[in-house]
Amino acid sequence: MTIYEELNVRPLINASATLTRLGGSLMPPEVVQAMVDASKVFIDLEELQMKVGDKIAELTHNDACYISSGAAAGIVIAIAACITGKSMAAIHQLPDLTGLKNEVIVHKSHRNGYDHAVRQVGVKLVEIGYAGSTAPWQLEAAINERSAAIIWFQGGMTGHGDIPLEQVVAIAAPHGVPVIVDAAAQVPPVENLWNFTKLGVTAAIFSGGKDLRGPQSSGLVLGKRELIEAMRLNGPPNHSIGRPMKVGKEEMCGALAAVRWYLSRDHEGRLSQSEEVVGGWCSELNRLAGVSAHRSFPNEAGQPMPRAQVHIDAAAAGISRNEVVRALLEGTPAITVANGPDESIYLNPMTLEDGEETVVLERLVALLRDK
Ligand SMILES: *Cc1c(COP(=O)(O)O)cnc(C)c1O
Repeated sequence: MTIYEELNVRPLINASATLTRLGGSLMPPEVVQAMVDASKVFIDLEELQMKVGDKIAELTHNDACYISSGAAAGIVIAIAACITGKSMAAIHQLPDLTGLKNEVIVHKSHRNGYDHAVRQVGVKLVEIGYAGSTAPWQLEAAINERSAAIIWFQGGMTGHGDIPLEQVVAIAAPHGVPVIVDAAAQVPPVENLWNFTKLGVTAAIFSGGKDLRGPQSSGLVLGKRELIEAMRLNGPPNHSIGRPMKVGKEEMCGALAAVRWYLSRDHEGRLSQSEEVVGGWCSELNRLAGVSAHRSFPNEAGQPMPRAQVHIDAAAAGISRNEVVRALLEGTPAITVANGPDESIYLNPMTLEDGEETVVLERLVALLRDK
């Protein structure tokens, strides 16, 4: 009996995405083994943080790395480090910002739920620009002696009239204001592990538990050593704002194993396999009345991976999009898909295990054909 059977928790086939609320991703055996090995011996946690960080930095062509308990925790601790540097007095004062830098600049168009991780340090978010256009002078005008950092969210919301990231870096540099990139879901492509920092940003922050398939409670902050050292002081086991965001020895070693595993993946083979799956789904689904399916690219996180977008015309198909989504979730095995616009669903091959692409297709065809 598995733990989920014992608890009566239903297993899900995830055709949606690496969503935390669905368990994020599944760890390959190499990652699980690293966590098991790590769990058996006492070590000095700060030494491990440093040594795993240096190893991950080397593997990803970065100056330094901090392993956090997730991308969101990485944002909290990075922003704290931008404010305090290595000042023990400032570290112990947080979240009271009296006399400290207390503003973080953000594109208005980048505002999203994850900016809570910035705000929980107590800073004020200073928005620049409009929903669809932001000008370099607006960033210049927002920078002042209270500016702790510029936060840049990379994802589906990015790129709509933003100041290009290179230019943000160029404007920030003479003022000494760090640029922090939330790149939580920005692999693939694997090169993003070094592309953002090559552009000159101070740090780029990734989820360990999304496509990297490391431990769910892990994240990577890749960037300049000065910031990473200040982050270590602002993080566990030190008494600091980051102390509740604990990363265990198992997560640290698991994150390293995940980076190694990810770097050695056949990324091209995976992409062409995903294209094949999406192509197969579309041609089968397009045979059904009231259904029109096509390849959608890039995906919701802006990753260069295909999904199938399947439109369901309730009148012609005899079943509505919402009814299909509900039936998939209530069926056995339960399947989760993402809702899209105009009565559509998205089918994502990224989070499927081998063979599940067929299960998903068969269930959909059965639902859309036999009603
Ligand atoms: C998933 C995500 C996060 C949070 O990452 P965790 O590793 O779950 O903390 C933050 N920002 C963005 C843009 C994300 O997609």
